Amino acid sequence: MSLRPDQIRAVQELAAAEPRLSQTKLAQRTGVSRASVQRILSTPDLRPQTSDSEADPDLVPPYRCRDCGHTVSYQPCKICQANRILDSTRTLRLADRPKRAA
Ligand SMILES: [Zn+2]
Repeated sequence: MSLRPDQIRAVQELAAAEPRLSQTKLAQRTGVSRASVQRILSTPDLRPQTSDSEADPDLVPPYRCRDCGHTVSYQPCKICQANRILDSTRTLRLADRPKRAA
């Protein structure tokens, strides 16, 4: 069974908040198995998404988008997404325009 990111984070945050809790207690409180708790706490790769990075799974460290050149912190680039939507509505509107009588 694989762990969901929110389960991993729950275990990490609880372990950080209450370092004296045993792995058994952590498992009971977070609803994952004790083996999973042990794995989360002992696997460096799973650690530590700091608690302040919780909000948006698309949020990434700022980088320069290759397509639009803006510095963005979302993957995929929100500016390019917005431009694509704008482009498609513009194209639609052009397509919808009635043909002029020649
Ligand atoms: Zn972009």
